[in-house]
Amino acid sequence: MAHFVGAIDQGTTSTRFMIFDRAGTEIARHQLEHRQILPAAGWVEHDATEIWENTLKTVDVALSDAGLGPGDLAAVGITNQRESVLVWDRATGKPCHHVIVWQDTRTESLLSGLDADLIRERTGLPPATYFSATKVQWLLANVDGLRERAERGEVLFGTMDSWLIWNLTGGLHVTDVTNASRTMLMNLSTLDWDPALLEMFGIPRAMLPEIRSSAEVYGTASVALDGVPIAAAIGDQQAALFGQTCFAPGEAKCTYGTGGFLLMNTGSTPVRSSHGLITTVGYRFGDDPPVFALEGSIAVAGAAIQWLRDQLGVLDSAAESEALAGAVEDSEGVCFVPAFSGLFAPYWRPDARAAIVGLSRYHTAAHITRAALEAICYQTRDVVEAMAQDSGTTLDCLQVDGGVTGNALCMQLQADILGVPVSRPAVAETTALGAAYAAGLAVGFWHSVDDLRANWHEDRRWQPTWSADRREEGITRWKAAIDRTLDWVSAG
Ligand code: ADP
Repeated sequence: MAHFVGAIDQGTTSTRFMIFDRAGTEIARHQLEHRQILPAAGWVEHDATEIWENTLKTVDVALSDAGLGPGDLAAVGITNQRESVLVWDRATGKPCHHVIVWQDTRTESLLSGLDADLIRERTGLPPATYFSATKVQWLLANVDGLRERAERGEVLFGTMDSWLIWNLTGGLHVTDVTNASRTMLMNLSTLDWDPALLEMFGIPRAMLPEIRSSAEVYGTASVALDGVPIAAAIGDQQAALFGQTCFAPGEAKCTYGTGGFLLMNTGSTPVRSSHGLITTVGYRFGDDPPVFALEGSIAVAGAAIQWLRDQLGVLDSAAESEALAGAVEDSEGVCFVPAFSGLFAPYWRPDARAAIVGLSRYHTAAHITRAALEAICYQTRDVVEAMAQDSGTTLDCLQVDGGVTGNALCMQLQADILGVPVSRPAVAETTALGAAYAAGLAVGFWHSVDDLRANWHEDRRWQPTWSADRREEGITRWKAAIDRTLDWVSAG
């Protein structure tokens, strides 16, 4: 009998394979980074062949490190960077172009002619370069002969889940409903590709994958994981919601990695946002009705720390930010708005650019680093506020995960700025765990979400310590800094 479940986590910077047991404990992992290809300012690409080869290696090494074979795995689930777009040749399996990554802003000029109201109503998304549709449109217009080949059904579109399933199963062309909900092409009511949107973007239906549930057996692997059911596909942030066991309406989690992503389960109702959030599919089990989520996406969270490390050189490592920021009492009036690639939720201003305001000669790298950590927390607070307004639900605790949560000072600031406790689970890899959970449920390895809830354990909790006055003062200053950032755009 198989005692384990595997998860492929195909992320923006790396691909990892992880193996979990029935208690949700990690048994093995292997991770490989792939190249970030930056052909021009604002363009970000990946090599899909490199990602597939890395996937094969990580599976192989993690299995052999654990002394296991494919037969020990009851199922494998896939979770992935969302929105990133690949088109490949149906006959040869060769990519027709690099992957255009979610962060890529080359399609900004394509947004102006779009019917924003129709897009919002059908997909729950604000028109943005972030989502897949304009990236596919760009490929069809710019890769020689691609449009004609797409119309003849000779080339296929997919997000990274589709690419991996297609390769693992030897040719199954499917995606899951969470990934499809980020393309800006799926109708949230029918859970199918929307004909009016396909026409608006000029995307031939023949190139699109079939939309399936997040947890069901799509097929059996014939490569690398020979004979193992591929039983889940779920976008990375939705997988983290699942891994944090936020199965009840009103439950929410925030993942702080390169960007920040707060998702709240809203149950079987898609809650429409009037405060700058996204309505998205949280997950769907087999034939059950889908579960929806409200999402606040923050473009730059940990990436602000990377910038201090790599561009300014004031840190040797991201972890060092905690000691440096901890060397000063507070940021002494400095505010840092890290809008390097515009502002996502709740502002949706692709044209915004970063600013550090309130500097005097007295300030040091420590104050700026502290302001960067505070910015991660204030951006999250903006999203939490929007979520309370949209959903009518106020959080009594924020469940957190992701690389930045290793920074205890940042998490303390988050509790202080939100005014509610912040709680981190024992298993930090909630994204991979969520994909494993979804796959395990699909094949009966776990029987119910209650089994999964029983696996969730708190590792650490931070309690708010600031007075209401101090919190208000901080929020007022942050909002003034955001205004300065936007003033600068209008001045330009
Ligand atoms: P992703 O999945 O987006 O690659 P991770 O969850 O691995 O992200 O987190 C990596 C991000 O977290 C990087 O942007 C890094 O700068 C930031 N980070 C990692 N450790 C810390 C830390 N101790 N303090 C602050 N930021 C950190």
